Amino acid sequence: MSKKTPPTAQKPDTILVHAGRHPEDFHGFVNPPVVHASTVLFPDTAHMAPGAQKYNYARRGNPTTDALEEALMALEGAAGVKLATSGLNAVSLACLSCLKTGDHFLVADTVYGPTRHFCDTVLPRYGITVEYYRPDLGGAIRSLFRPNTAAVFTEAPGSLTFEMQDIPAIAAAAKETGAFVLMDNTWATPLYFKPIAHGVDLSIQAGTKYIVGHSDVTIGTIAASARALPGLLELHGAMGVHIAPDDVYLALRGLRTMGIRLERHQQTTLAIADWLAQHPKIARIRYPAWKDDPGHAIWARDFSGASGLFGFDFTPNVSKAEASAFLDALRLFGLGYSWGGFESLAIPVKLAGVRSAGTPLPEGESVRLNIGLEDPADLIEDLSRGFAAIGN
Ligand SMILES: *Cc1c(COP(=O)(O)O)cnc(C)c1O
Repeated sequence: MSKKTPPTAQKPDTILVHAGRHPEDFHGFVNPPVVHASTVLFPDTAHMAPGAQKYNYARRGNPTTDALEEALMALEGAAGVKLATSGLNAVSLACLSCLKTGDHFLVADTVYGPTRHFCDTVLPRYGITVEYYRPDLGGAIRSLFRPNTAAVFTEAPGSLTFEMQDIPAIAAAAKETGAFVLMDNTWATPLYFKPIAHGVDLSIQAGTKYIVGHSDVTIGTIAASARALPGLLELHGAMGVHIAPDDVYLALRGLRTMGIRLERHQQTTLAIADWLAQHPKIARIRYPAWKDDPGHAIWARDFSGASGLFGFDFTPNVSKAEASAFLDALRLFGLGYSWGGFESLAIPVKLAGVRSAGTPLPEGESVRLNIGLEDPADLIEDLSRGFAAIGN
């Protein structure tokens, strides 16, 4: 089968469908095979020379991993992409790829809890100093740079609080000193925010969430700018990271429909946020796409859409026992961690006490919802059950 050359300029939804696919390499089949492998054979010793053959050992990649990496390169506008065993593994590998002993590392106070744990426990053992900064600093982060500041970690919107960060301003400040900028972009996905185009060097995805989209795999992805790629390839190869081909295949399958899923997640989430905001027991919606969110202006400026994860704070008079009763009364929303799948989820959240850089946070009870692909009316009815359990 001969190769059809795709047109160069493609819109994001078209990239999702076509990128990383080479039917001509696989007898015309639409999808690549799931390559289960360790050994790759060489026809003769000459082919064992470095670079003489495309593949030489499965840990270093195979046609299944290549397909996902190539698709993500196109979507992220990256110089290269490497896969990780989980989102957290993508975070740790990205950090290690650009940090060394003696470095200072600025980390947003709003980062995902396990990212913080990695920064607090592993990095100090290698002589790396971690400093948390207020996520709303923007370009004022400049004042925190030291001569040995090697990298800045960002996440927007941040985990649990959903605070937005001014990524272009932070990237511009980092550029003045040459520090690398890392971003956990799991919430928006590279469909709704393009980290590399906004100055980020290492764009991280917990592919577990929207790329996979079906709550059946954990996987991570790291997309690199040209200057960050050599360090990433070196570290990734040295650490021996390899992802099972069935999991890579499921991520690739999920990616093909991510656009329409996100559209629906966003639409339903906005409807539910509108409904919740009217309720007298709700003090605040935490969702940058929501018109009254403090991060709304930055979100509207830099992002082209919103996903289905958001939070809300109960009014201070709602007790912990009532917040639990609310959650226990839900029948469609499952109680569980992770998110980005087709099914709605809820978790209780206590915001106070999780930060150290002076970010003001309420003392009361909060909830994080993952809005799935169910009918919005059914989800609203379910949330009404929650309110009924605490006296409406
Ligand atoms: C879930 C999550 C991760 C980690 O992903 P895993 O695949 O569960 O390790 C990283 N960052 C954010 C923002 C997440 O929500």
